[in-house]
Amino acid sequence: MLEGIQSGANPTSWLAQGQALFLFLHVLGVACFGYIVAKRLVPLIRAERDPRLDRPWARLGKVFRFWLGQWKHPRYKTAGTLHILIFTGFILLAMRAFTVLIVGVSPNFVMPGLSGETGHLYEVATDYAATVVFLCMVLAITRRAVFKPARYEVPAKFGKAHKADAIFLLALIAILMVADSLFEAAKAAGQVQPGQHIEFAAALSLPWLLKIFLVSLPLSVLGGLCFAGYLLHELTFYFLLCYRPFGIQFHVETSLFNVYFSKLDRGKLKPVKWGVSDEHLDQVKSFGVKTFEDFTWKHMLDFYSCADCGRCSDNCPANAVGRPLSPRFISIKARDYAFQHYPMFGRSDNGQPLIGSIYSDDEIWSCTTCGACEEECPLLVEYIDKIVDLRRGMVDDGAVPQSMQKPLKALNSRGNPYGKMEKKKAEWANAKDFQQVCQVKTLDKKNGADTLYFVDSITSFDDRLQSIGRATAKILGHVGENFGILGAAEKDSGHDVRRFGEETLFLALRDHNTDAIKASGVTRIVTADPHAYNALKHDYKDVPPVEHISQVIARGVRSGKIEFRPVENGNDVYTYHDPCYLGRHNQVYDDPRDVLDAIPGLKRVEMARSRDRSFCCGGGGLMLFYEPKEDQRIGVKRVQMAAEAGANVIVTACPFCMVNIEDAIKVAGFEGKMTAIDLAELVDQQIVRERPVVTTEAVEIPQECVAGR
Ligand code: SF4
Ligand code: SF4
Repeated sequence: MLEGIQSGANPTSWLAQGQALFLFLHVLGVACFGYIVAKRLVPLIRAERDPRLDRPWARLGKVFRFWLGQWKHPRYKTAGTLHILIFTGFILLAMRAFTVLIVGVSPNFVMPGLSGETGHLYEVATDYAATVVFLCMVLAITRRAVFKPARYEVPAKFGKAHKADAIFLLALIAILMVADSLFEAAKAAGQVQPGQHIEFAAALSLPWLLKIFLVSLPLSVLGGLCFAGYLLHELTFYFLLCYRPFGIQFHVETSLFNVYFSKLDRGKLKPVKWGVSDEHLDQVKSFGVKTFEDFTWKHMLDFYSCADCGRCSDNCPANAVGRPLSPRFISIKARDYAFQHYPMFGRSDNGQPLIGSIYSDDEIWSCTTCGACEEECPLLVEYIDKIVDLRRGMVDDGAVPQSMQKPLKALNSRGNPYGKMEKKKAEWANAKDFQQVCQVKTLDKKNGADTLYFVDSITSFDDRLQSIGRATAKILGHVGENFGILGAAEKDSGHDVRRFGEETLFLALRDHNTDAIKASGVTRIVTADPHAYNALKHDYKDVPPVEHISQVIARGVRSGKIEFRPVENGNDVYTYHDPCYLGRHNQVYDDPRDVLDAIPGLKRVEMARSRDRSFCCGGGGLMLFYEPKEDQRIGVKRVQMAAEAGANVIVTACPFCMVNIEDAIKVAGFEGKMTAIDLAELVDQQIVRERPVVTTEAVEIPQECVAGR
């Protein structure tokens, strides 16, 4: 116990010699920390606004889950376990550290509520906590210095490694634990000799072990050790406190706030400028992020909070194939920039362009916006909004890659990236053989429907992918949907145009489609394209609710409207590839799997990376027109993962995934051994059509779609 620390012959009475010194160190330590933090806050105060005070309960829930509950850490077993142990130790030791600091200037201080039995139990817990934290530090240092996990390494193209800094900080924490334990052990050992009440040290804890060594030393030596332990604790504590804001351990201070203010809405993109409505965007002088100060304060807080753990980059498909992007360095380079340009002393030097200095344009174009980095980050650091903001800045400056200029021009003039005539938009539905089995109406003033099938550009115009459109239409007919399409009135959803950074073009596409959807009078929307699904759900306003076809099919299976015949080849092994904009961004993981599992005889295996850890196919939308520098195609890695899982049929539920995966099958040399199929195509192939469709009163079924294939 800390009570009785000043009791005559008790060696802790030596502490009294240092009261003035300790008080001076407290004041100096707190003042330095306050100054450093105030300096670190300067860029955040100058940053762009970012309203994050809404939904406090949801935010607190995130704090409990991701900060206090350390929810994401077990995704990496060794590092995660170490972090959970260290974090728990820190939480337990926080009050003890505070108490120890006060004891230096007020020797009889006892934390309210921590006297008697409770205090005793707390001391036992903290003895073990200090021991566990010390051991974790030794392990963490050994891991970093000896075993060197690959994800901590820093390729030269991304800058300098922070390994020495990380090890130094880990060592300082270990020293803090030793100092704390030495102080406790010397105090307890000193109580043995004068026959005082002996403080209990938890068996096998660090203070307990030290006490065994110290117990026979003279009282004067124990007093000196007690003093030294205390002084070392205080110096290390304040040094750590003031040093952390200069490196990767700043997250110890910022993580709670970073998690509280983290993004609440998946799939949504931040507006160009918070507080400026779409109608007033023409008054905005400069779009996106061009200088460090163009980031929002929350994005700067992200930079401070990144712990350099490398999990984001470890899961980034762009990084995995050698593209010049590793998300962790988006944070680290920006943080280093902030430290350099907002020095502790002297004037800040702001307004430097980021592209061409700390970031390259290829780096920023390399991102597929798959969201794997954000899904993995234990501190909920955001990347997609930042990368899109940087792209907005480049687009605003006219720095658009050559290969993207043609599709953007076509989107502007024709409403699709291929430059096809609007009237050809519904050609996929007008093919004669298809019309014999399914007639799809185009919605206009005379032809209404309950449901809109939003097809989007790639499915409408790509010969291979039109089959997904036809399968989708037949399934909608089979389940009794009264549906139609917009035909020539439908323009590209603009999903990827927006993520490319072309906000103005996106708004034009969105407004056109919104008017067309409203004029059609539909009450719901279905699409087979996860990008269109995400756009209609999150980027559009005032449009009816939207579903992905996999959700419609799963409901049809559960209700009995859809029945399947067994697969023809029972030897085929299927695996499901989660499209990023259906899975990670919208959490639709189970419906497609439930559908596959309902097909008799279908053998399904999971790839090592699936569901929220799914590996992007290589990117959709405008990324199909971009040729990044890379060692290997992302899709090739994905089909290799399918092969490793023992699958020879890859099922996906996204036309963009289909393009990338079919291409990758050829490039990887799996042609003839592996195939890819869209979920809608597979369902259309396996559906039992002889059975009459269950109808609801109000629904007019396009009978042609149920007449069989
Ligand atoms: S952004 Fe998150 S996952 Fe990536 S290195 Fe930083 S803390 Fe780790
Ligand atoms: S969104 Fe995907 S591609 Fe982009 S940085 Fe994150 S993990 Fe990499």
